[in-house]
Amino acid sequence: MPELPEVETVRRSLLPVVLHKPLEAVEVHTTRILQHKTVEEFRELLLGRSFLDLSRRGKYLIFSVEGGWELVAHLRMTGRLIFYSNPSIPWAKHTSAVFSFGSQGELRFEDVRKFGTLDLVPTGQYETIKGLHTLGVEPLSEEFSPEYLLKLLTGRRIKVKALLLDQTKIAGLGNIYADESLFQAAIHPQRSADSLTEEEIERLHGAIRDVLELAIANQGTTLRDYRTGFGQEGSFQNRLQIYGKKGEECPRCGVKLEHRKVAGRTSHFCPACQREQP
Ligand SMILES: [Zn+2]
Repeated sequence: MPELPEVETVRRSLLPVVLHKPLEAVEVHTTRILQHKTVEEFRELLLGRSFLDLSRRGKYLIFSVEGGWELVAHLRMTGRLIFYSNPSIPWAKHTSAVFSFGSQGELRFEDVRKFGTLDLVPTGQYETIKGLHTLGVEPLSEEFSPEYLLKLLTGRRIKVKALLLDQTKIAGLGNIYADESLFQAAIHPQRSADSLTEEEIERLHGAIRDVLELAIANQGTTLRDYRTGFGQEGSFQNRLQIYGKKGEECPRCGVKLEHRKVAGRTSHFCPACQREQP
């Protein structure tokens, strides 16, 4: 599933090509992609209007639309938002929605599994989009300081990995980047949040930022479905340290990497570098 670096990469790739172009046609092929609007309402509100900006919160992309609306997209498992400068390129088989800028290209939502969503809401009114309304802090914002993370972890008996995945605490981290960050900080995913020392928390804070920034610089991780807004693969999969590498040698100490279910997700770790008992 695309996480913060992938969604941010899509945002950055689409930003220069989708703004200030009036929508000449809007097609919805998979009606369940629309959350609170009928196809007719959706089309009527968008036709003739332009996107004015494109921002990101957690794993959500938010297109601000002329006239006080926002189009909120979530790619979920396999969604892709791709800009085609040549609109005569045939639609891919799993195209759920198409936003046409006439001869100036098309933005297409392609989605094999069809869990992706599109919401159209008055600007800033996210109450109906529960996941967006309750999002926690952006990990690359100034607000996310070591002190903030300390406060988040203190007194919580929850496993640290579970807390990192909780979107209402930290927005945009998923399984890949939680595992990579915990490895870089040398913290076992099953450690109880309240068992971490201040030094470990500081290390974890730095690791989360470093891993996310490096992943964005590498256009995200393509293991299978994810593509940038231009349909290209990311390259951070070549720089992953432990994710998906069970049985391979730890790049730091050479011990065999393991994985285990933590918080319902397969979690990768090095049993030597990341000790279960502090
Ligand atoms: Zn190791």
